Amino acid sequence: MGDSKQLTIKDVYTDSLLCCDLSSSLVDAISEMKRSRVSSIFVTENGEIVGIWTESDCVKLDFDNPSFNDVLICEVMTSPVYQVGMEKTLSEATVKFHQLGIRHLLVVDECNQPCGVVSLSDIVRSQGLDHYLHFRPIAEHFDNNIVVLQSDDPLTRVIEVMRSRKVTAVLVFNRHIQEYGIITQRDISYTIIAPDWHQECWHLASHPMVTMTPKDSLFDAYRLMTANSVRHLVVKDPHSEHVIGLLALKNVLTEIETAYCSELEKVLVQRDMALQKSEKNLYLANRIIDASLDGIMITRSNGEIIQINPAFSALTGYKAHEVIGKNPSVLSSGKHDDEYYRIMWSELKNKGVWQGEICNRRKNGEVYMEWLTIIEITEPHSNDVLYAAIFSDITERKNAEEKIARLAYFDELTGLPNRRLFYDRLSMALASAHRYHQQLSVMFIDLDRFKEVNDSLGHSAGDKLLVKVSERIKAILKEGDTLARLGGDEFVVLLTEVNGMSDVVTFAEQVLEALSIPFQLGEIPVTATASLGAAIYPDDGKDTETLLKHADVAMYRSKEVGRNSFQLYESSMNARSLERLSMLSRIQQAMDNDEFELYFQPLQCLASDSISSVECLLRWHDPHLGLIPPAQFIPLAEELGLIVKLDQWVIHKACEHLSVWHKQGIDISRIAVNISASHVVQGDLVKTVADALKAHNLDGRHLEIELTENSFIGNIQEAKKVLTRLKSLGVAVSLDDFGTGYSALSYLAKLPIDILKIDASFIAKVPDEYGNSEIVTAIVAMAKALNLRVVAEGVEKSIQKQFLRELGCHAIQGYAFCKPLSEGDWRYFYSSAKVTS
Ligand code: C2E
Ligand code: MG
Ligand code: MG
Repeated sequence: MGDSKQLTIKDVYTDSLLCCDLSSSLVDAISEMKRSRVSSIFVTENGEIVGIWTESDCVKLDFDNPSFNDVLICEVMTSPVYQVGMEKTLSEATVKFHQLGIRHLLVVDECNQPCGVVSLSDIVRSQGLDHYLHFRPIAEHFDNNIVVLQSDDPLTRVIEVMRSRKVTAVLVFNRHIQEYGIITQRDISYTIIAPDWHQECWHLASHPMVTMTPKDSLFDAYRLMTANSVRHLVVKDPHSEHVIGLLALKNVLTEIETAYCSELEKVLVQRDMALQKSEKNLYLANRIIDASLDGIMITRSNGEIIQINPAFSALTGYKAHEVIGKNPSVLSSGKHDDEYYRIMWSELKNKGVWQGEICNRRKNGEVYMEWLTIIEITEPHSNDVLYAAIFSDITERKNAEEKIARLAYFDELTGLPNRRLFYDRLSMALASAHRYHQQLSVMFIDLDRFKEVNDSLGHSAGDKLLVKVSERIKAILKEGDTLARLGGDEFVVLLTEVNGMSDVVTFAEQVLEALSIPFQLGEIPVTATASLGAAIYPDDGKDTETLLKHADVAMYRSKEVGRNSFQLYESSMNARSLERLSMLSRIQQAMDNDEFELYFQPLQCLASDSISSVECLLRWHDPHLGLIPPAQFIPLAEELGLIVKLDQWVIHKACEHLSVWHKQGIDISRIAVNISASHVVQGDLVKTVADALKAHNLDGRHLEIELTENSFIGNIQEAKKVLTRLKSLGVAVSLDDFGTGYSALSYLAKLPIDILKIDASFIAKVPDEYGNSEIVTAIVAMAKALNLRVVAEGVEKSIQKQFLRELGCHAIQGYAFCKPLSEGDWRYFYSSAKVTS
């Protein structure tokens, strides 16, 4: 059946067409048919086919009045004549036969000209359906409605029986020779040519006849008919040998025909279903294409665009009517060379698919990156090739990737290489230095008190400072050297082609000098000093890790010896750095273990020479390291975020001591505590103070809070609020280390400050060789004008004390009067001081 789909009428029809004119007599027409051995003849009028006459029409003739010589073909023909195009498929023709209930169709060519005839039998025979007959016995198909006439019956009787019993053949028995013969419609039609209606019918009968039994298969019957060129077989009962029926070729063909038609029906149903399914698939495919967020473009093999989806328009800006029929080159950005497209096409041709990133241009001229997949599609029933291009805009993803790559190797804030890139460059530089026996140096640069700038001026000012610092250092770098930011305020420099220590020292000096000029951050000029430490390859380390570690150790040494300085690594530093590390981890432990203690340093009132107040100074008694001064652990506590807790402890302890002293008769009117700059805005200082006063039943006037200028920068409003609330508790506020911070004198007038403590560094310079000091004189005068009390710190000599007394300074603090003392020593001092005063 499969092939029948492809077979057409052209393959099975009979190309000879027997025709006669409309005016022909029936007898002439039948004579023509007999000569041509065909079963039908077409009737023409002026060259046009207008009717058909077939053998089976002959029984319709009036044999009662058999003057056939006068009968014209036009009187007995059937019209109109149905036709079929020779290019039609056999299935189409079969459907037509069935619809019209006929057995012959006129075949016409492409120009609608008659060129042959096709019968249903032609089609059925072409199907190779013989196998259908194999298992079908004759029994079910033969015609048992048979008429048996005697050999001496006249021909008229035969015709009469055929008509009345509606049979196409009759059997004739010849009792003389005991044999059966057969007379068919065709035999009758041929008699019309030379009729002798009264002759014995035996003359017309064909005999002897092939016989079969009902058990034989239709297949064998069909084979026998074909082999003997007969159209009828006699069916006999195998036992009685009686004739029980007649099997006509028509019966066999009908059987095949039925099988063929039912098969055809199945195929047609399947085809309908397949069609419906493919329509549904097509509908779905179109919906998916339309809904896709990816741009889709379908082109012919010559590149002509035949379909796009809405996402295509959204991504490229081109509407369907602007691109359909055009070539995809309308999207070209011009950024890829011919080679790029050549490789794309060759891959596409070889593998049927290509994927990659491509740069295209939108309608508005904007260039964008897309991820493109092109698939070659061969159409199922033709060999036409189509291409489907599916793409998504990856510009954002590409940007993100670039950014990630940048972030992976560069610091976002300063644009400098980051730790990772620095390590890469350092290891490359080390390899090269090793090969060429050169020296190189790694230098750590850590900004001093950067945290204070950040905390007080805000993060954006801190960021600005970092950028400006990086610019200044970059400006003095040699080509080939690298400055990187490792994080926070930590920078590192890789100096290549170093010729000994002196090169490194020179560079360090340049850095310190570059940073010494104040940075303008908004309104406020800020000085940012730095601590520098360097290590040199190969002396201080041969690998990345060691060099970096030793440069770091040297940098911390710088911080320890007083910041704003540079240290080259020395092996002895390692021990100190370990000490520092252990200290960091120990601070928290120290607080838990009660290893902190307050020392007390009294201040002397210059007017009365008596003790005016006492300042608490924190000490750490480490069981292994001994007494540690605050300069060493306060910055670390700040770094670790422990300072607020530490200050709180100090405030409570100070209040506790004073309250005990008062009870013991130690009549000290005020105790001062130092508060870290970061505490002012970080913790709730006012609450801590109020809680401590309450807990020890003290009046606010007995407490003094010492703050440095750094506490106020950038947060003057916030600081003012805190100070005002402290003052409302009755607490005194002093400005410690005056003259060393970032702030301007103008703060003094704006903030509720009571006492100004002039930093020891100024006092150390008085009196100068001329017996005075302009700065100290000016500070004292100004403080007095602002109604502040003035205290001089670090007074070691009596001559200084004398000078300050003359200036009108209110009080002094220093070794000249008393060193910081432990609690026991302080009590002792107090009692003896009281005695002497
Ligand atoms: P400061 O508040 O200016 O304290 C005065 C410092 O000068 C003390 O150093 C003191 O021992 C020292 N000193 C006093 N008289 C003289 C003198 O005549 N000559 C010299 N050369 N030095 C003298 P100390 O105790 O080492 O404290 C250093 C700094 O640590 C303090 O400076 C203060 O800023 C900070 N500090 C001390 N205790 C605390 C505390 O409990 N909390 C906080 N946050 N900081 C503290
Ligand atoms: Mg102080
Ligand atoms: Mg001080």
